[in-house]
Amino acid sequence: LSILELSKSYKTKTNGVKLAVNQISLECAPGETFGFIGPNGAGKSTTIKILTGVIQPDSGHAYIFGKDIRNPQSRQGVGYVPENPYLNDSLTPFDILSCTLQIHGSKPEQPAKHIMHWLEELDIAQVSKKKIRSFSKGMTQRTAIAQALCINPKLLILDEPLSGLDPIGRRDVIQLLNKYKEQGGSIFMTSHVLYDIEQLADNVGFIKDGQLTINPLANNQQTLR
Ligand code: ADP
Repeated sequence: LSILELSKSYKTKTNGVKLAVNQISLECAPGETFGFIGPNGAGKSTTIKILTGVIQPDSGHAYIFGKDIRNPQSRQGVGYVPENPYLNDSLTPFDILSCTLQIHGSKPEQPAKHIMHWLEELDIAQVSKKKIRSFSKGMTQRTAIAQALCINPKLLILDEPLSGLDPIGRRDVIQLLNKYKEQGGSIFMTSHVLYDIEQLADNVGFIKDGQLTINPLANNQQTLR
């Protein structure tokens, strides 16, 4: 993943302009986990929404596996978990993963077994046929993470992936993401919790008021580990 001088502003209610993301550049190499940290309102979600095609940048570029993010094909093989994921609450986790596999054209040999594997990994297999409507925030988050992982992504884009989880849920998801990393997966994640970034990231960027205050590209690429 590479981001080059990306900017995005919003119109404010008082007819002003809010520069939410201001000329940020960074790189997340294959197999690396990049932790994007900053306080609320810093511009993290805006950056992620640009990368996942939810909104368009005003200027600048971003590439995923060499493909411009303006090209929807750049998102093939990318698993995405937005902040507070919206899942159709009349569906079950099984339905959601099943739809995801169909949309992404992934055809595992035994789809049901593949789906149950990921629901087991997230410890929600026992509620695989229960409607999302009855779920806690943590269980919804686990479903969204299973959904992102079931397509065997090469890159995971995660916006506050540990939010809404209790301490056991946080520990489980950190372990699972570390396993995904050991298998060669790349992660671009945001958090406002330094501890979470420390548990997972190889490289970090600090964003505040839309600006990357420590630009990893400007230094010799130092890793946390
Ligand atoms: P973070 O994810 O780091 O909390 P955001 O990217 O959500 O930050 O927001 C960055 C800034 O842009 C904040 O000042 C926020 O209020 C503003 N902002 C975000 N979305 C919109 C929007 N749709 N319209 C106007 N302002 C927005």
